Amino acid sequence: MRYSPLHTTCFRRTGGLISTLTTLLMATLAMPVFAATVDGVRMWSSPDNTRLVFDISEAVDHKVFVLKNPHRVVVDLKNAHLLHKLAGLDFPKSLLTGLRSAKRHGTDLRMVLDLKGKVRPKSFLLKPTQRYGHRLVIDLQDARSKPAKVVTRTAANATKGQARDVIVAIDAGHGGDDPGASGRRGTREKDVVMAIARELEKLVKKQRGMRPVMIRQGDYYLGLRKRMQKARDLKADLFISIHADAFRDGRARGASVFVLSQNSATSKAAQWLAANENSADLIGGVSLDDKDDLLASVLLDLSRNATIAASLDVGSNVLSELKKIGRVHKRRVEQAGFVVLKSPDVPSILVETGFISNRHEEKNLRSKAYQRKLARAMLKGVKTYFANNAPAGTLLAMDDRQHVIRRGETLSGIAQQYRVTQLALRSANGLSSDGLRIGQTLRIPMM
Ligand SMILES: [Zn+2]
Repeated sequence: MRYSPLHTTCFRRTGGLISTLTTLLMATLAMPVFAATVDGVRMWSSPDNTRLVFDISEAVDHKVFVLKNPHRVVVDLKNAHLLHKLAGLDFPKSLLTGLRSAKRHGTDLRMVLDLKGKVRPKSFLLKPTQRYGHRLVIDLQDARSKPAKVVTRTAANATKGQARDVIVAIDAGHGGDDPGASGRRGTREKDVVMAIARELEKLVKKQRGMRPVMIRQGDYYLGLRKRMQKARDLKADLFISIHADAFRDGRARGASVFVLSQNSATSKAAQWLAANENSADLIGGVSLDDKDDLLASVLLDLSRNATIAASLDVGSNVLSELKKIGRVHKRRVEQAGFVVLKSPDVPSILVETGFISNRHEEKNLRSKAYQRKLARAMLKGVKTYFANNAPAGTLLAMDDRQHVIRRGETLSGIAQQYRVTQLALRSANGLSSDGLRIGQTLRIPMM
């Protein structure tokens, strides 16, 4: 402890107080007083990220740094100690091989995270919530994983000359240390929405011309912007975020569908764009790097308005399917400023599948059969949307169309192009042989 000259002057004037203060100070220094305790730790891992959450008794001063040979992350906590040994962590799935701790300078705590390889660490403190107390979060990003590269749709998806699949990004809400809402029977939103997402994934996979991608693949948390960024990196044609509501009134029930509202999108999306886009990125197929700022913002607005219109379209298709399987909370698609829906160029909807806080709906949401029903309703809505709005170059855009034969084309070539069997082509057009005439019109059947 150092005294500033001001303090010294102050002490000189109040002579009698000095000895009292000194005695107090001595007592404090003699006996180590631990201000904070570390009460436990939880850990979640995604393929390229591990999050450790330490429960602490109060906010602590901390420092995080990396060491090499072997790779380690050191976390120093000032004036803190472990309440008990930290155990029960599942290291094999994580970026860690172990976690050690030791006392430092008598009153401080050093924790060492032994690593499988190089990481980029980040740390922050979280204030108490209803569920948790103070927390120290350490995020480790695998240093080998590069940000997902922007790939062209054809390269990502199909061989040259062949129609591509539409990509449906499925986002199970919450995860990891964010359980989302919970029901009276202890059902956690993060678990039921993952189960529903997996059902939807299975169904989409079975559809010809559609491909699912899961935004969250396990029980870990992903930031909201990261979720939508991932959908864009994966060149999704549609983004569906799946959630379950909770409300203090246990009577509230029914599913609802949300899309982004116009005004909430405006400034934030532009900010996000400015901060995150690099020059190679495309918004709605228009490269922005060679446009001036004003034009770029106009293009962005156009793209966003079109995206919101498309989102409303797919949202209302999904909502009308949800109406068929049960009660809905609101009869119309609602609009709100959900961050996860703010992609400027990927139509995005958020489905609140029901109220987990409602006894009856909690039971439904836990049931495999009902989860499947919800997934089926979502798929139907999505199919209806794509039947009318299939993106150019996709297999769905080519379905049930006519093809006029040009020179050199063969039945097998056309079958390959539309990804149908030759047999289906023959029977749809009453062909008895593989011979084709130039100018002949073939009906391309739905498969
Ligand atoms: Zn939620």
